Amino acid sequence: MPSGYPEEDFLMLSGIQHIAFCERQFALIHLERQWAENSLTVQGRHVHEHADDPFENDTRGDLRITRSVPVESVRLGLRGIADVVEYTRDDDLPANESLHISGKNGKWGVSPIEYKRGRPKPNDADEVQLCAQAICLEEMLKISIKNGYLYYNSIKRRVKVDFDDNLRSRVELLSRRMHEMIGNGVVPRAIKKSYCNSCSLYDVCQPGWTTADRSVENYLKSHLSDRYDGAG
Ligand code: SF4
Repeated sequence: MPSGYPEEDFLMLSGIQHIAFCERQFALIHLERQWAENSLTVQGRHVHEHADDPFENDTRGDLRITRSVPVESVRLGLRGIADVVEYTRDDDLPANESLHISGKNGKWGVSPIEYKRGRPKPNDADEVQLCAQAICLEEMLKISIKNGYLYYNSIKRRVKVDFDDNLRSRVELLSRRMHEMIGNGVVPRAIKKSYCNSCSLYDVCQPGWTTADRSVENYLKSHLSDRYDGAG
């Protein structure tokens, strides 16, 4: 594993949710620059509108909220924007899990919060994105972050995510794979899965006929050979 990536090789942090969902979706978006908007991505953007307002930074007692926070990690080679970063005063926190805020007393813990449309998903795409943001914040602030939160619009509440060793390993693995795939420049073939129906790139991808066994080339060959059989 490289100890760090040069700045010119940094990738969009948000791509980690795409590669966690499907490598082909990641490649279509980040290699072929395809993007299709379905109702799920429209809802997602609407949910993010509130979180993305940089003027709504807020302080309430022992809570400080900052929005649209730029984050990056040299180790992961990722850069992005965290919807919300919350600072909560807790004087009992150990030194390596807290920081001091200029002009404020006490110790403050840090948690990233990501806004999502819909409900918690059957895959871990949201969790890895949030954990990648936390690893960026840890590197930038030189502290340890134990957990963060995913706010789901349809259930109107936040879900706590612990940044345990398994989740951190998955982020490391997926971020390396992102760099590998961008380096290779190869878009994997589609393999249709049940979750393809909720994919924003379904129409671009056409997983029904560009599977591992039925490439576009084979599909066209079989249809053309039906038509031209015996034509010499
Ligand atoms: S339609 Fe399925 S195979 Fe194609 S990009 Fe989406 S999830 Fe991946």
